[in-house]
Amino acid sequence: MLKSKFIYNKNDRELKRISKIVYIINDLETHFTSLNNQKLSFKTIEYRKRIIKGDLLDMLLPEAFSTVREASKRIIGMRHFDVQIIGGIVLHKGMISEMKTGEGKTIVGTLPSYLNALTGLGVHVVTINEYLAKRDSTNIRTLYEFLGLSIKNIYAKQNLKEKINAYKADITYGTNNEYGFDYLRNNMVYKIKEKFQRKLNFALLDEVDSILIDEARTPLIISGQIYEDTKIYYLIKNIAEKLRSSKFTEYEKGDFILDEKHKQVELTEKGYKYIEEIFKLNKIIKKNDSLYSANNIGFIKKIKAALLALYLFKKNVDYIIINHEVIIVDENTGRVMPGKRWSDGLHQAIEAKEGVNIKEESNTLAYITLQNYFRLYAKIAGMSGTAYTELYEFNKNYKLDVLVIPTNKPRIRKDMNDLIFLSTKEKFEAINKDIKEKFYKGRPVVVGTTSIEISEDISYLLKKQKISHNILNAKNHENEAKIIAQAGRSRTITIATKMAGRGTDILLGGNFKNKIYKKIVKTAGGLHVIGTERHESRRIDNQLKGRSGRQGDPGSTRFFISLEDNLMRLFGSNKIKKMIKILGLSYGEAIEHKFINKAVEKAQKKIEIRNFDIRKQILEYDKISNYQRKIVYKQRDEILFSYKISEYIEYIRNEVIYKIVCKYKKNKKYNITNLVINIKKILNINIYKWIKKNKYIFSYKNGYIIIINKIKDKYNKIYKSYWKKVDKEKIKILKKQTILQIFDIRWKEHLQMLDYIMSSIHLRGYVQKNPIEEYKKEAFKLFKDLIINIKFDVISVLSKYKI
Ligand code: ADP
Repeated sequence: MLKSKFIYNKNDRELKRISKIVYIINDLETHFTSLNNQKLSFKTIEYRKRIIKGDLLDMLLPEAFSTVREASKRIIGMRHFDVQIIGGIVLHKGMISEMKTGEGKTIVGTLPSYLNALTGLGVHVVTINEYLAKRDSTNIRTLYEFLGLSIKNIYAKQNLKEKINAYKADITYGTNNEYGFDYLRNNMVYKIKEKFQRKLNFALLDEVDSILIDEARTPLIISGQIYEDTKIYYLIKNIAEKLRSSKFTEYEKGDFILDEKHKQVELTEKGYKYIEEIFKLNKIIKKNDSLYSANNIGFIKKIKAALLALYLFKKNVDYIIINHEVIIVDENTGRVMPGKRWSDGLHQAIEAKEGVNIKEESNTLAYITLQNYFRLYAKIAGMSGTAYTELYEFNKNYKLDVLVIPTNKPRIRKDMNDLIFLSTKEKFEAINKDIKEKFYKGRPVVVGTTSIEISEDISYLLKKQKISHNILNAKNHENEAKIIAQAGRSRTITIATKMAGRGTDILLGGNFKNKIYKKIVKTAGGLHVIGTERHESRRIDNQLKGRSGRQGDPGSTRFFISLEDNLMRLFGSNKIKKMIKILGLSYGEAIEHKFINKAVEKAQKKIEIRNFDIRKQILEYDKISNYQRKIVYKQRDEILFSYKISEYIEYIRNEVIYKIVCKYKKNKKYNITNLVINIKKILNINIYKWIKKNKYIFSYKNGYIIIINKIKDKYNKIYKSYWKKVDKEKIKILKKQTILQIFDIRWKEHLQMLDYIMSSIHLRGYVQKNPIEEYKKEAFKLFKDLIINIKFDVISVLSKYKI
């Protein structure tokens, strides 16, 4: 209690401080209004000159914001409200502005975008889908162009020239995924002129919670195919179907344990034995082999994936099938994600379960999580209607602060207490009643569900009563924006799966120009939002509620819960259940009490903490590969941009020679045979004759230095004269590309090894070791090998070059 009060005070204090800047901007308004269009638009050039002279962005802020406000008034007919100016200042400071739906975040974004674009270092506006990126950039393009700034979009399948131009622009618009993939692609090029992404400067994230929290767990992966026989998935599915589940308490009895809460599965000792036997019978593994051995890890992964597919991943909830393809439904946004695939064989296991064509598993060439991508920017800021509940995570993982910005007009929406029922059936009946009641009053209703299945159930219910309605889910998102634009009309019912990040505003009365439609709906009570159950996190509930009551509009919200909901079943406390039993509800009756809301929120907090922990852990593991990726990419760039590639090669060649000689020298004893063989193998020169003639050197204390110098000499004699004969520039390019290729191949292998350790590390957990520490140790060792292997490869390949 004390803590939240403290935070709120901090919020207020910060708002007060920022308001002082707003006063200055308001005082400047008359001056800016007096400027003609030309003078106003020339301000950009003036500011840029001042930046070159040393003015800081913070110093320019009041004038720059005034410029945008005035230009916006003239060009798009909207004057930034004071709260929007506050939001803009918060963003410029590299924080998160929590602003409710309909508060006009799109034009808030213009303020910090303009100011930060003045440096010419690039501003990236990030949205969660291409539709929003296109819409937002189009809507305010004229404003930026008036102010003399260039604005461009990045999108999937853009050609190189367009990409280069898009990243050169003052302000770039695009989706989080596209920016991340571009970062990876940009680090896989072989020519300087193919580099298109500049140094990452300032990113402004719209719906920041969707990007940094909901999607944080999905890594962006660029992959190539591995060829394997997909029949194995069917065989494993058949085995998995025969396995028997057991409860935690009866560990010994079954073959596996399902952990529904964490969506995980573990095999029991008995399960392992059983599967091993079947594998041996089917000659998948050898008679004397064990399922535990390292080269069989892949099978265990596949079996677990098959069990997950059979028992924990449900059609029309977690995925849908379109054209015989398994397509993921995002668990938070409810959107389909064509092209994305689950990893670790899960996607294939589901394909086997559904009897559709199985696609081969692919091979990671490069990957990054969104979390780590956005940490690469010099500054990031974000906007969302729902960020405050995740303050702790933003703070901890991104060092981002959240400031709650007051609404422009007071909010009068009524959020009613939850109604809790014994069964789903009773709950549905009550929802049906509520929809009809509001519908006949002339109000628009939005029904938010957690899955496509429930959406369809509600739709079926309404259809039976011949009540027309729109259904908005992953299956028809193309029409989404159109449907949403009309969802505020009188007597319009819209059923939607997870409203997160839908980004389109619901206007009362629809988008009719005539104000009378809006008035009718307002008088009837505004938009009514129904939640068919509580979501896993309070934030997603808030996103749904936020659809109603925008800009001081009337409206109401109500959530319906039953004891059979997943949330209540898995996480609800026994106290609620007992209390309800004691009260002895009869059929159709519900309880409505603040106590219930609190109890439900407690259950949600449990899940939020669990999810936070999962994300934190992923981040912990990810930190390691991220650190390594940064080093590899940096070295790769050094090579790509290097003017003196020959010197670089000579430098590592000397290191390689030193390493080989030292490897075969113990005190004064040399393993001459191996030394000669390896020098031949890697440097392609033969020192056998020389060594035979000069054996006395081995008895010298520093004899190895003489040997090293001899090798260098011999090498130079042969290769310098050889390379001289070919075109210098061409050879430079050739050498560079060869080195880069070696980097990429070795890095790809390294990623696979990391993945392998990661999947086997928890097995080591059984022997009382801290898995993350183990992982760190192994990953560090592998990385050292990686760097050395790259060097050896480079020298070995270049020494055998034949033009
Ligand atoms: P959000 O993303 O915060 O939900 P939008 O950016 O979609 O909000 O804006 C909501 C609506 O409010 C849009 O129709 C927009 O044109 C309008 N709007 C926003 N700011 C202003 C303003 N200062 N003056 C007039 N209309 C505004």
